[in-house]
Amino acid sequence: MMGRLNDKVAVVTGASSGIGEATVRALASEGAAVVAGARRKERLEGIVEEVTRDGGKAIAVECDVTDERQAHALVGRAIEEFGRIDILVNNAGVMLLSKVEKGLSDEWRRMFDVNVLGLLYATDAAVGAMKRQGSGHIVNVSSVAGRRTRPTVGVYSGTKFAVNAISEALRQEVLEDGIRVTVVEPGAVATELTDHITDEEVREGLKRRRIEPLQSEDIANAIAYAVGQPQRVSVNEILIRPTQQAN
Ligand code: NDP
Repeated sequence: MMGRLNDKVAVVTGASSGIGEATVRALASEGAAVVAGARRKERLEGIVEEVTRDGGKAIAVECDVTDERQAHALVGRAIEEFGRIDILVNNAGVMLLSKVEKGLSDEWRRMFDVNVLGLLYATDAAVGAMKRQGSGHIVNVSSVAGRRTRPTVGVYSGTKFAVNAISEALRQEVLEDGIRVTVVEPGAVATELTDHITDEEVREGLKRRRIEPLQSEDIANAIAYAVGQPQRVSVNEILIRPTQQAN
């Protein structure tokens, strides 16, 4: 497989479905060796099999990013198998929407654990190796909800506002090490993300939404664009909405 990412090594978290899965395929098709991490190992193995059949290079690694050791081990596998880590895509995320007054504290914790702490653990693991290499690229999948919020989206938005803040500080901290940081902020994408929402009112509201959503490939293409730029180019932020999405 030949492309803009020949000889690059990428790690993608939350690679078993949706945007993460599409990103594994997109980066592998550009020539990167990809370490695909998530909890559902069988799903990962199916994706890796297809990527390999199409001439790409990928491995599946079972990883719960909320476990700091597992997040570090995921990045460690890239170095063990392929000798380096050029790209980390922090994509793993959960969106458990509900009004704050519902008090679903287990869901608040899960969102902060996966969306914020999981991202930090994997980033911490990757930055050390990238500094030693003198180059690297971290892509954090945020959301339109990382820029604005509305009822029922508050806590999820809080995690994505945190992702944006952490990303911007990190960008400034590591730019002299040749490390680039990109935030990608999708609007509605047709994935499994909403399947985990437990609040019936929110689920009903989402069913009434009548816009054509983005596909996971639309976001994967944006990520491939950002990481495929020459070293002098740092794509800081990409906001992508479906054409019919107002806010
Ligand atoms: P999916 O539900 O399809 O994918 C989420 C991925 O995250 C899955 O691969 C899941 O894998 C993984 N994941 C969840 N928890 C963990 C964990 N503890 N450890 C490791 N992996 C985990 O949804 P999307 O593809 O839509 O979501 C990807 C990202 O995009 C998220 O960060 C989401 O917030 C963001 N986003 C999505 C939008 C949308 O409309 N779909 C809009 C804006 C942003 P597994 O269960 O196997 O661990």
